[in-house]
Amino acid sequence: MSPSTSLNEDLSHLHEALGISAELLQDCKLPVCEEPAELVKTEPDFYGREQQLVPAAFAAWSAMKQAAAQDGVSIHLISAFRNYRYQYELIRRKLDAGQKLPDILRVNAAPGFSEHHTGRAVDIGTLDCPALEEVFESTEAFKWLSAHGHEYRFSMTYPRGNPFGIAFEPWHWCYNGE
Ligand SMILES: [Zn+2]
Repeated sequence: MSPSTSLNEDLSHLHEALGISAELLQDCKLPVCEEPAELVKTEPDFYGREQQLVPAAFAAWSAMKQAAAQDGVSIHLISAFRNYRYQYELIRRKLDAGQKLPDILRVNAAPGFSEHHTGRAVDIGTLDCPALEEVFESTEAFKWLSAHGHEYRFSMTYPRGNPFGIAFEPWHWCYNGE
């Protein structure tokens, strides 16, 4: 069995277990995101949890965070790499809490389709702003990222009206270097 076959089987099992049909997946405009071969530990996230990124993304993130700090802007990690199983658990918990699958998939990609699987995407927070909320858009941190993120090859993946059909996520940035 080739690695790509087993990957797809893994994902199929997770999708089946969540009740995500082939039909639902056909409507998904997100690309499949493979898990990377190499990850490195980052600094702990805002909540003290361990996080990982691919080495190049971690180097770029560290440089960007330092540059922001020098400009008096605080940015910190809320979330970085997540594996397929993590994404499964995330959706499972919401289903168990009574949320409907199509609603969940508007804010959480199906396993295999989250950019966090790549180890290049980060959810960014800043002091005095609730995590993962649209109001992040009105912070100094967001202003700074919009002006300087590209210098570190970070860009926002889900602006308003993005072609992926994903809700606006001003906190979600992805490293696009190498
Ligand atoms: Zn994210």
